[in-house]
Formats: sequence, C-alpha cells, structure tokens
Amino acid sequence: MWDAVVVGAGPAGCKVAADLAGTHDVLVLEEHAVSGIPMQCTGLLSHEAIGMSGVRPRILNELHGAHVHFPGGAVVTARSREPKAALVMRDEVDSLMASEAKAAGAEIRYSERYLGHTVRDGLVSVETTGGRYEAKAVIGADGHRSAVSMAMGNNPPRYFVRGIQVDLEHAMGEQDMMVIRLGSSLAPGFFTWQIPFGERTRVGLAVGSGYGPPAPYLKRLLAESGLESARVVGKHSGIIPLEYARKTYGDGSMLIGDSAGHVKPVSGGGLHPAFVASGVLSRVFREADSRGDFSAGFLSAYERGWKRAMGGELGRGRLLRRLYDAATDADLDRAAEIVERRGLSEILDGIDLDRPSKVAMAVLARPLAALGLLPTALRCFLGALR
Ligand SMILES: Cc1cc2nc3c(=O)[nH]c(=O)nc-3n(C[C@H](O)[C@H](O)[C@H](O)COP(=O)(O)OP(=O)(O)OC[C@H]3O[C@@H](n4cnc5c(N)ncnc54)[C@H](O)[C@@H]3O)c2cc1C
Repeated sequence: MWDAVVVGAGPAGCKVAADLAGTHDVLVLEEHAVSGIPMQCTGLLSHEAIGMSGVRPRILNELHGAHVHFPGGAVVTARSREPKAALVMRDEVDSLMASEAKAAGAEIRYSERYLGHTVRDGLVSVETTGGRYEAKAVIGADGHRSAVSMAMGNNPPRYFVRGIQVDLEHAMGEQDMMVIRLGSSLAPGFFTWQIPFGERTRVGLAVGSGYGPPAPYLKRLLAESGLESARVVGKHSGIIPLEYARKTYGDGSMLIGDSAGHVKPVSGGGLHPAFVASGVLSRVFREADSRGDFSAGFLSAYERGWKRAMGGELGRGRLLRRLYDAATDADLDRAAEIVERRGLSEILDGIDLDRPSKVAMAVLARPLAALGLLPTALRCFLGALR
C-alpha cells in the first residue's frame, strides 16, 4: 500500500511528491512517456518561484519590465532596477523537478493513466491503465482537465483562456524588456506577450474562451509586429483555467495546481500558486497521517489553509480579471491616459509577478487616480455583473 498516489508529474505533482517522499511512500502516475512534454507554458517565473521549485533550470534571459501597448496606441512602460522575472524552458523545469522527486524517494510510473478511484473504509483504491493501487490518499495534480477532480464531483472549469505561442528566430532590440499588447483585435479577454532571449523571441497570446481558437489572433499579431516571415523554431499551446475547482478536497483526496484552479487570474501564472499550495498540502497530509484521518472533514483544513495563504491574491486577481473582461478598448485607453496623467507608472515599476493585484490596490490608494478611474471601473463592474 502507498501513502499517497499523486496523479500527474507536472510541477504541482512533482513538488508535492518531493515534499512528501522523504517521510512517506509516494507513487506518481504520469500518462505521458516523459515529464514536461508537450510543453504548455511560456516559462516566465519570478526568482521566488524558481527558488520554491527546488531546482535550478537554465535562465534564458532576465526581464526588468514591460512596455504595455494599449489599443489606441499609448504605451505605458514599467521598469525596475532589479530583474522582475526569468525566462526558462518549462520542459527542463518539469524534467528537473521529476528527478528531484525521484531523488527524494518518490516512484514515478510513466505512460500510466489514472482512470478513477473509489474510497472504502478510509482506504483509496486507484484504478489505472496499468493496474490498481491502494493508498491512504490520492492527490490530483493532473492539470486543467483533471480526471481526479471530476471523480471528486467537480465540473470542468468554465472560465478559462486559450493560449498559443511560438519561438521565433528573431532578435529583439531591447533584451531586458518584454512587450505586452492589449485590445480586442489581438487578444480579447487576455493579452499578448513578446519576450526576448538572445537571437530568439517568444511570441504568444491568450484569448477568452468565448473568442474561438487563438491561432488566427497569433497570425494577426505576427503580421502587425512584422514577424510573419521569422522562422518558427517551437510552437506551444494550452488552456489556462481561471477559476477554482468547487471543492479541492474530498474523502481521501486533494487537488493541487491547475486541477484546483491555482492560477493567478491576472497573469495566468500557475507555478508559484502550486508551490505555495504544496507546502499547505504536505502539512495537512502529515497531520492526517499522524491522526489516521483522511476524511473530507479533516482534509478540509487543506482548502482553508491554501485560501489563507493566497486566496486574497487570487480572489482580487479574479475580480480584476472580471473587470478587464468587461472593459472595452476605449476603457483601456482611458485607463492608460490616467496612468500617464497621474504619473502612476512608478507604482507599476514595483509590480510583483507573484502578487500582481497589489499594484492595482496601490493605484486605487491614490485618491486622484481612483477618482479618475471610477467611471470606467463602475462601467466595467456593471458589465461584469451582466
Ligand atoms: C500558453 C501558456 C503559457 C503559460 N505561461 C506560464 C508562465 O509563464 N508562468 C507560469 O507560472 N505559468 C504559466 N502557465 C500556466 C502553467 O503552465 C500551469 O499553471 C502549470 O503547468 C500547472 O502545473 P500542474 O502541474 O498543475 O499541471 P500540468 O503542468 O498540466 O501537469 C499535469 C500533468 O498531469 C498529467 N496527467 C493529466 N491527466 C492524467 C491522467 N489521467 N493520468 C496520469 N497523468 C495525467 C499530464 O500529462 C501532465 O503531465 C502557462 C500556461 C499556458 C497554457
């Protein structure tokens, strides 16, 4: 019998496995033949998130800020002296994290797919394409289409964006700044990104779920940025869930990472929230084990714990995203005008990639800015209620 069966060898699953494996018997199931492929990520991480991953991937570039292009042509620049984010290859991060989990004592079985689980007399029975395993708990770290979450009675996320990106043979002039574009013609419901790394550039975008596939938008972005003839050397796509699973715990089960909706709604970043949740999950798991109680009642401490640790940031982020969804291009242009007129870009310079909603709160703390933004915010708020 295993102490924990973790479904999914992505960053969330490998982090939990590494955290628990020193003291518990942990089996990780991964449906693909290797970790990290297919890659579905930009690989833009804060140094805090990289530190929490427990591994040291190759840093392709460090970014000090962004030029944000608004639909009407205004450009707002946020730049800090220290690097704000590092660009890495996600497949390398996943592969290093899987090695770390194995080194800690976890067993990873590749090409084996979780099919379902049942709980009887406090024992979990996990069925896979390779057999059946008994465990004290199953941990769903199986991404946004989580089968574990569905087995726990949740629905698939309805609020999500679809992302797509390419790596191009193209060197951007300014190597320490990324370019972000907003507006309904290029990325309705989200934004575009253009990130330099030496002789190459990572260009991508995401669109809200109601706007169809993202590929035609990418084609337009490349054309408008004069990049349509640059050679494509990598292409990735994927879905980013923007809402929590209804319940992230059940009898003998817990969800983490994309399967739980642990994603920053403002940026779509999921690694830092998954790493924060992993610390909470492993603490609750240890307590449950020492009491011999993996009931839903006891494991509810996990959901309370991760909400205490990051629910404020994720909740504020969700509100900001709903307001953004309801904003028209004219609203965005008006917001850019207020940022410029009220000299707010120095507040934006202080943005923390892992806590992006704090910047919005700092802007709203300036009475004149708050007053200027009020009509736009109110209009978006009413739009979001519709
Ligand atoms: C285009 C794009 C860009 C992004 N950019 C960033 C970024 O720059 N920074 C950032 O922090 N986040 C980014 N994200 C979000 C980030 O990629 C996710 O939040 C992160 O991958 C979540 O990790 P996870 O381990 O929860 O899930 P995943 O990485 O999806 O891993 C889940 C694993 O479970 C496996 N699995 C699924 N079902 C089963 C099953 N039934 N049985 C066995 N195994 C199964 C899968 O094969 C997979 O390996 C981006 C996402 C997209 C789509």
